[in-house]
Amino acid sequence: MKPLSGGLLCLPEHERASLERDPIVTGSLRFVVSNKNVTPGPYPACRGYTRWRRNVPIGNMPEMSKDEALELRKSIGMMRKEYRYGQICLRCGYCQPCPQGVVAPTIFRALDMYRNYPENLKHLGVELYRSLEIKADACEECKKCLRKMPAGLNIPEMLKEVVEIFASL
Ligand code: SF4
Repeated sequence: MKPLSGGLLCLPEHERASLERDPIVTGSLRFVVSNKNVTPGPYPACRGYTRWRRNVPIGNMPEMSKDEALELRKSIGMMRKEYRYGQICLRCGYCQPCPQGVVAPTIFRALDMYRNYPENLKHLGVELYRSLEIKADACEECKKCLRKMPAGLNIPEMLKEVVEIFASL
């Protein structure tokens, strides 16, 4: 699940536009496929059929060598993106249910869409957030979700940020 770390493990749009394949995406998926303990395989989200079709053959690529894995790590490091487990919500849902009915994974999904989608699609995040009956401001900071979720995200604080961002739109 989330082999591309919620969309962080990819080249910036302008760099990959001219490439047949994003080497970071290909490498990251191959890294997972090469791990014999992972079955049946990685489960990346794809924006559209074309990307999905590009990803499928990665399952048949030869196992990644240690040197290739090291090169991949270096390439990811050179992107200077901050990514680590617990940095963003990966929508595992372990924090649920919330006594106030706050569905944090969907709220954070709306924020991700607004922040990371191309300019012409950002409105989808805003619309998703506006469509939610119970929004981030319903959080009463009881912190029950913190005891259940494994990634160490400070959900109540993150929800406050969501409230501010969407209130300003
Ligand atoms: S802290 Fe907020 S989001 Fe978490 S369980 Fe309590 S009310 Fe729900």
